Amino acid sequence: MTTAAIITAAGRGLRAGGGVPKQWQLLAGRAVVAHALAAFDGMLRVLVVHPEDRDLAEALGLDVVIVEGGASRTQSVRAALEALAGRGVSRVLIHDGARPLVSASVIGRVIGALDQADGAAPALAVTDALWRGDAGLVVGVQARDGLYRAQTPQGFRFDSILAAHRAYAGDAADDVAVARAFGLDVAIVAGDEDNLKLTFPGDFASAEAILKGRQMDLRVGNGFDVHGFCDGDGVWLCGVKVPHSRALLGHSDADVGMHALSDAIYGALAEGDIGRHFPPSDPQWKGAESKIFLAHAMRLARAKGFALANCDVTLICERPKVGPHAETMREALAVIMEVAVERISVKATTSERLGFTGREEGIAAMATCALVRG
Ligand code: MG
Repeated sequence: MTTAAIITAAGRGLRAGGGVPKQWQLLAGRAVVAHALAAFDGMLRVLVVHPEDRDLAEALGLDVVIVEGGASRTQSVRAALEALAGRGVSRVLIHDGARPLVSASVIGRVIGALDQADGAAPALAVTDALWRGDAGLVVGVQARDGLYRAQTPQGFRFDSILAAHRAYAGDAADDVAVARAFGLDVAIVAGDEDNLKLTFPGDFASAEAILKGRQMDLRVGNGFDVHGFCDGDGVWLCGVKVPHSRALLGHSDADVGMHALSDAIYGALAEGDIGRHFPPSDPQWKGAESKIFLAHAMRLARAKGFALANCDVTLICERPKVGPHAETMREALAVIMEVAVERISVKATTSERLGFTGREEGIAAMATCALVRG
């Protein structure tokens, strides 16, 4: 499954002051929209900008698809969805570029809810009393039961929201409104008070204070795995089938590198290992592709609010030669993990013909990963 993120930044809102639209003003030294984009690092990202802001968008120097927005927010999102059509995207998160502090936890909750619903969006229940006012006087009280403050990212199954937008005429308040008009169910997940929308000048000071107060939580994990050789014509290593005169024996595809990496992530989370989540005694995992384990470990990390800082896999064998395939392996892992390839290292070594790897009885792999929550 490929997740894409659309960051909307085509508005001209000047209420925040400063002479340029709020999403292009600096927050803690970088553009507000760059903070928002960073929260979705590793996904296929689309940045929707006003035509006059294309230079600003290109100057960010980020790996994003830049789309020029339309006359309304709804038209802008539609243009971004059309730009993603046909790219194999299964889920899309649509996020307001003026919300720079969205956390990995909120993003993880939205993605997780899409397993059950066509759409999901974060919101906070209204806790303040609500009044109606007129000419400076309270003229009534509004019941707050069942009222929520909506946030973003609003997440959807891609084909569903694209169809909903194509069928929608007019300008909607947000994409949840477009989805509901098409008959889609949208689940509410817990939002976050820090996920504020920068609107007024004072909001920038609040956002800087939140950024300063964030305590980075860093977790490190390691994993180790071994599989022995058997008859065959190649070995699966880090998601790539490498031609060889042998295969690796195991009840799954025996991808020893991906197993070590998955265990490193589970280890960083103190969540045991692959065997705890996918018991070998359970026949449904017989012959399972190892990418199921790795994708599960990453989803668990995201659900707990962690993002991958980096990982490093070392494959230990005399043969096959891994070096010529290492870049392809990095790219394969990046797709499965939905993180940028720069955060993934794959390298190899021999054991100088010593021990079981030296005797070419099997392949060993070790992996380290760092997860951050900030
Ligand atoms: Mg294994």
